[in-house]
Amino acid sequence: MRYALVTGGSRGIGRAICVKLAEEGHYVIINYTSKQDEAENTLKMVREKGADGEIMKFDVSNQTEVDAVLGGWIEKNPDKTIEILVNNAGIRKDQLLMWMSNAEWNSVMDISLGGWYNVTRLIIKGMLVKKYGRVVSVVSLSGLKGLPGQTNYSAAKAAVIGATKALSQEVGRRGVTANCVAPGFIKTDMTEGINEKDFKQLIPLNRFGTAEEVADAVNFLASEKSAYITGQVLSINGGLYS
Ligand code: NAP
Repeated sequence: MRYALVTGGSRGIGRAICVKLAEEGHYVIINYTSKQDEAENTLKMVREKGADGEIMKFDVSNQTEVDAVLGGWIEKNPDKTIEILVNNAGIRKDQLLMWMSNAEWNSVMDISLGGWYNVTRLIIKGMLVKKYGRVVSVVSLSGLKGLPGQTNYSAAKAAVIGATKALSQEVGRRGVTANCVAPGFIKTDMTEGINEKDFKQLIPLNRFGTAEEVADAVNFLASEKSAYITGQVLSINGGLYS
């Protein structure tokens, strides 16, 4: 049993990851920022798998809040080390660059990239002391190839890939790995407005993916079995692009 933290664990891909990690018997800390009822539902699903966990509310983009809430948990639990970190929280605010507002640019950068920094920086210290850790970050096809209408999102996800590659080289000697998964179109609230019928012919596997399919890949990268894989990006996109 290890302590795992999943940011944005209340819904979608994050929820599926929490449930998968619970199936492995881990203690799952479910982060969320607004939807407490959904976070509680995830915790219920974790417990139904016979594991335990807790919900933890903080906005990953707010450093003061992350330091107070997550930093506070770490301080109060010196005997516990979070050995699995899944940086999953993310939003999209699609807009062509010429019409993009500062708020659309900054919110996406602050949550995906700023959130990665705020949370990983706190957790990595314990992993280094423990000489074991798995950092798995959920990026996107958009961060690999760029997608029109998503300069903000593509930039944030590409930056997380760069940060992950750098981090993997900083911490490898201490038994800590850092990898990314890059989903394509996955059925969640985030893709609710995107019609699968219109896009599926572009996808070699001819369908959108499920959150559980992403969770399976994350679970592998979060396990001991992936010990010799670090600094990598695993695409989960039905063959769309890699
Ligand atoms: P989703 O269904 O919209 O869920 C987003 C999750 O992130 C929710 O749990 C939400 O918490 C949390 N969140 C948002 N802003 C946050 C913040 N500032 N601090 C803490 N938590 C925050 O999205 P999803 O589709 O599962 O996406 C999960 C990840 O996969 C994202 O990083 C996304 O970019 C990436 N991704 C998704 C797809 C796709 O097709 N769905 C494709 C590629 C990559 P609340 O419930 O409290 O709001």
